[in-house]
Amino acid sequence: MSTDTTCLIVGGGPAGMIAGLLLARAGVEVTVLEKHADFLRDFRGDTVHPSTLRLLDELGLGARFDALPQSRLERVAFPVGEHSVTIADFRRLRTSRGYIAMVPQWDLLDLLSDSAHEEPTFTLRMNTRVTDLLWEDGRVVGVCHEGPDGPGETRARLTLACDGRGSLLRDLSGLQRREFPAEIDAWWFRLPGSAPQEFALAPRAGEGRFMVVFPREGYLQIAYIGRKGTDAQLRERGIAAFREDIAELAPEFAERAEALGSMDEVKHLDVRVDRLRRWHTDGLLCIGDAAHAMSPVGGVGINLAVQDAVGAATLLAGPLRKDGPTPAELARVRRRRLLPTVVVQTLQRLIHRNVVTPILAGRRAGPPKPVVGLLRRFPALTRVPAFLIGMGVRSEHAPVFAWRAPQAPRAPRSTSPGSSGSARS
Ligand SMILES: Cc1cc2nc3c(=O)[nH]c(=O)nc-3n(C[C@H](O)[C@H](O)[C@H](O)COP(=O)(O)OP(=O)(O)OC[C@H]3O[C@@H](n4cnc5c(N)ncnc54)[C@H](O)[C@@H]3O)c2cc1C
Repeated sequence: MSTDTTCLIVGGGPAGMIAGLLLARAGVEVTVLEKHADFLRDFRGDTVHPSTLRLLDELGLGARFDALPQSRLERVAFPVGEHSVTIADFRRLRTSRGYIAMVPQWDLLDLLSDSAHEEPTFTLRMNTRVTDLLWEDGRVVGVCHEGPDGPGETRARLTLACDGRGSLLRDLSGLQRREFPAEIDAWWFRLPGSAPQEFALAPRAGEGRFMVVFPREGYLQIAYIGRKGTDAQLRERGIAAFREDIAELAPEFAERAEALGSMDEVKHLDVRVDRLRRWHTDGLLCIGDAAHAMSPVGGVGINLAVQDAVGAATLLAGPLRKDGPTPAELARVRRRRLLPTVVVQTLQRLIHRNVVTPILAGRRAGPPKPVVGLLRRFPALTRVPAFLIGMGVRSEHAPVFAWRAPQAPRAPRSTSPGSSGSARS
């Protein structure tokens, strides 16, 4: 089966769904291909930052987002001795939403999908895995895919690679990556119960490892950080030894750790920090994790992917409505989004070197003492980390064509496997 569209988006993660929604609101015919049958999959982070909250308000989706089950993080604090010190206070930001919302990523993606389906030019094909690029005269003209109806091709004027950190399209396109050393890996798991919200993101450190706890509605999402390359060793030691690690790092969780049945419940994240030297080739543009894999430090991957999508839709909606985009127009997206990416990755690498590595080496239990002292003395400075994490450099506003009046919450529409919405065949 062969299909034509104007903009083909590969990957229905945060970057792909935001780009799809915005371009559809611009009247561009857009098709999103997503390999999974639904958005319900492994935990992949669920932090929605103030700049994304502002964007949702501009898109008219603020009230619908507020109706999703969520917890809110207004500040990040570290326990220091008997007390705690606030590192980032989001209430100090000049925005109406001074907090990070913790929402399961699938709920956010469902909301974006529901909203995009209200546009007649939007198509989402779930259960459709892209397997190859289609080239003509050195130009990408679409993709090959496998779906519920068997193999097929979709041709498009622009293919937007939003297929994440392991991007197949990036690899097939031959675009070159620059990798930065990341000496840590992360393991994610859940424990039942609750914990004080303000200690979210505060590390519980021990020799060679530490844990960061994210309190959620009814459970704790926990990141266990250890040295890179130790996944096999951790699994070989088994679940009983892992439960002991948890109890050592956070004795108050010792009993709850019994809820972990096996190491299968502990998901390994191979931490990588990289970015493409060029984000496009003729007919193809990479954004989000496909263009730059981020460290989990600061939990900014979703936000940056969303901001890339807004930047791309803002610059490319016009050319897509005409005959474009040209390679020069695609290059403008990277120029717009490079500074925020470089700033975040540089900060993450600095934090790896000056905070994470010393904690793993058992030399320190939190941020450097002079930083803690400064933030204690001048609490207004907590606005700086809050800004860098919550808003970021060059945070994007919704383009005018995508603004809508506030919409009332409604029952979510489920995304069914196979194709949905409209498509030009
Ligand atoms: C365990 C874990 C925890 C994380 N925690 C956080 C956090 O707390 N906060 C945060 O901000 N970030 C977090 N991140 C990072 C965050 O998930 C990413 O930065 C963000 O999702 C990037 O968005 P994206 O749309 O670029 O890519 P992704 O979200 O990775 O989406 C890519 C999509 O493409 C689809 N896809 C891939 N290949 C194909 C193909 N061949 N054909 C069709 N579809 C395809 C995938 O199924 C997926 O839906 C975490 C990541 C992981 C793995």
